[in-house]
Amino acid sequence: MMRQYELVERVQRYKSDVNEALLNKAYVYAMQKHGHQKRASGDPYFSHPLEVAAILTDMHMDEATIATALLHDTIEDTTATRAEIDELFGPEMGKLVEGLTKLKKLDLVSKKAEQAENLRKLLLAISEDVRVLLVKLADRLHNMRTLDHMPEAKRLRIAEETMDIYAPLAGRMGMQGMREELEDIAFRYVNPEAYRTVTERLAEIFQRNKGVLAEIEKSLSALFEKYTIHATVTSRQKKAWSVFRKMEAKALSFEQLSDIFGFRVVVDTVEDCYRALGAIHTTWSMVPGRFKDYISTPKQNDYRSIHTTIVGPSRQRVELQIRTHEMNKIAEYGVAAHSVYKDFGSKEGNGKTNGVAPTISKDTNAYAWLRRTIEQLSEGDNPEDFLENTKLELFQDQVFCFTPKGMLIALPRGATPIDFAYAVHTDVGDSCVGAKVNGRIMPLMTELKNGDEVEIIRSKAQVPPAAWESVVVTGKARSAIRRATKNAIRKQYSGLGTRILERAFERGGKRFSKESLKPVLHRLARKDIEDVLTAVGRGEIASSDVLKAVFPDYKDERVTVAPKQQREEGWSRIRNAAGMLFQIPGRSRRDKTKRPEDSAVPIRGVRGDLPVRFAPEGAVPGDRIVGIMQPGSGITVYPIQSPSLTAFDDQPERWIDVRWDIDENNKERFPARVSVTAINAPGSLADIAQVVASNDANIHTLSMIRTAPDFTEMLLDLEVWDLKHLNRLLSQLKENSSVSDAKRVNG
Ligand code: MN
Repeated sequence: MMRQYELVERVQRYKSDVNEALLNKAYVYAMQKHGHQKRASGDPYFSHPLEVAAILTDMHMDEATIATALLHDTIEDTTATRAEIDELFGPEMGKLVEGLTKLKKLDLVSKKAEQAENLRKLLLAISEDVRVLLVKLADRLHNMRTLDHMPEAKRLRIAEETMDIYAPLAGRMGMQGMREELEDIAFRYVNPEAYRTVTERLAEIFQRNKGVLAEIEKSLSALFEKYTIHATVTSRQKKAWSVFRKMEAKALSFEQLSDIFGFRVVVDTVEDCYRALGAIHTTWSMVPGRFKDYISTPKQNDYRSIHTTIVGPSRQRVELQIRTHEMNKIAEYGVAAHSVYKDFGSKEGNGKTNGVAPTISKDTNAYAWLRRTIEQLSEGDNPEDFLENTKLELFQDQVFCFTPKGMLIALPRGATPIDFAYAVHTDVGDSCVGAKVNGRIMPLMTELKNGDEVEIIRSKAQVPPAAWESVVVTGKARSAIRRATKNAIRKQYSGLGTRILERAFERGGKRFSKESLKPVLHRLARKDIEDVLTAVGRGEIASSDVLKAVFPDYKDERVTVAPKQQREEGWSRIRNAAGMLFQIPGRSRRDKTKRPEDSAVPIRGVRGDLPVRFAPEGAVPGDRIVGIMQPGSGITVYPIQSPSLTAFDDQPERWIDVRWDIDENNKERFPARVSVTAINAPGSLADIAQVVASNDANIHTLSMIRTAPDFTEMLLDLEVWDLKHLNRLLSQLKENSSVSDAKRVNG
């Protein structure tokens, strides 16, 4: 196991002003915390964070990152707490270690290859600080190096996860060395047979061609000497996984791939790169279509190098990478490499002179953040701040949440459980009535956060409320809600149309069936039965016209009674839209006739299955009511004694017989307008509100209509359960000392 002083020495090699105290403190703290814990291998647990720290010293990371590596498992696996780490090492270190703890929780999530991309994004979104991610990758690398000690069942899962998530992540962060090693170890476990075959063949080929390789290396070195270019030439050992992947992807045979030798030429300056290239191309012929200049056009992950393939001295194909030392480090360590360059702030900013300052490529992609931070950095005067300032702003516009089964759903920021439900499936969204977020029931308006587990509670009876449209942020949810709302409204109208027709036919002594509409669709100029029903419900077709269309012989024998005249006589005989006659009492008289309950249209409230609205003064169960058809918006329900009804006296076809159909499952309150005369005294308004609230009623709106020095008359639009409830409330209001009178308006 590495000793304390050895770790410090490692950092000292690249950072002479090393913060020895921080490293020592973290070393001792982590060692004590992990105590006698053991790894699966039987080694002391502390050897693991120590090795992770060592990997990061190879990448020349700063002390905070190294110390984070030492502490990375303490919160999760020992008695250490965030508060303790804050206190001992400062909140910045605390935040880094906590970041690692959060990422560790993700290891428990089920991973499927198809959601790997989202998981990588989630990792980035949660990490917040690039150092957290670097420690995580080093942690994973060490776990992979010691994977043999894990139980067999776990090995495959961890290896697959590494292949799908961590290796590509390392690659995108520009850390090719890390990526290659992760892939190669993972390959060994994911496909052991292929791994063994490819590795053995590679070793064989290497043995066979040792002489040729040495020869090529010599020729290249001689060439550069001739041109006085200071260059290091190394042959590149191909990795089993990259050979295997190329074989698979390009359907190439092993032989086709393995006859290619790879060399890397590392020089001092960008200028030397091009001089070396010139020397090579003028000496040997190049293979067409293989030349790539990633120096003038860097890859999006900041990779810079010249690639070319030539027909070599002994007629084999030779792949060459030409780059500067700095480019080489960036290619190996990616993001991590940026931390160690002191000359980042180069005035030119285009890399022409020192080959270090990266060129900012114009195209935008997921790595824009990297370029952005680099830009910031080249403007700033302290390049050492690089890591500290590299907050991961990547995917800040997205949140990533899980289904209870571990499926990952990517949503735009601000998304709600409703968006989540629709993202899973339209049916799930349409039937969504509630949500559990991380196991707790939460409002459907809750803004989801990264890593939230969301469980949707569903009900078959649900119709998505139109109001959701303004809550959701995804287009998919919005259009689905719009569609469902439209369908629900259409269904309401067709339901109403059916009932109206049933009554109309019944009154005409005929039996109504939907099928009977089929032969007369053309006469009614509608394309299907549903259309006819909806049109009747909307008041676009009169029920009598449908009746006459189905039964051409039918004669309407009843007389239309002038309602106005009837009303003046104290009661009215009203003929409603179904052609039905019924009697309603005038204000002074009670109706003695039994109402034909069964033939009236049942009213269950605005949330029922019919398009219903209430008169401005309201109507509550217990009130005797009548409906007025409002073309295009269904039935408006009025208390039968409402004076506003006189406005419809000359339109008897709009009148419709309705009845309450309320049972104990009805959870809807009904509107009633009440006029209250309050005595002007401090607290009188509060008194009134108190009476309303203590009676389990709501005030919907309140307006003052007259104020005098001694009293105020106000209108309250209340929401109550029924007439009994309303009357009880009115009498309690009257009893209240702040109230001189309370009565129903128009009731
Ligand atoms: Mn670990």
